[in-house]
Amino acid sequence: MARQVPYVGYLSLGDEPHLVANECGSCGALFFDRRNACANCGGSRFGTRRLAGDGVLRAFTIVHRATPDVRVPYVSGIVDLDGGGVVKANIVGVDPEPGLLSLGMKVTLTTFAVGTDAEGTEAVGFGYRPA
Ligand SMILES: [Zn+2]
Repeated sequence: MARQVPYVGYLSLGDEPHLVANECGSCGALFFDRRNACANCGGSRFGTRRLAGDGVLRAFTIVHRATPDVRVPYVSGIVDLDGGGVVKANIVGVDPEPGLLSLGMKVTLTTFAVGTDAEGTEAVGFGYRPA
């Protein structure tokens, strides 16, 4: 099997891919990037938290314009994860038709190859598909 690297640092690969957030030790706010202080409470202690793979679609848009190397249309969504955490990601595994998507629909994390370098190392991205 080719070597794989996650496309973003907060995607953990392996048998059960999942997202990992930085969690404020004071108020529990979640962030995908590294913070010196919490944007919610100003706290400076952080731990990590594994986020659920399942969630619901809070909002979406169907994108019809992009740079020439990006295939359109595609669905860009905001997903509320079960147990906490909000993530922006593409919605995949469904045709980009408004009638096939609905607010509150259940979705689940999925991963896919986004590119391979000259040595065969595969970059892996993530999105959400209908559950
Ligand atoms: Zn906080």
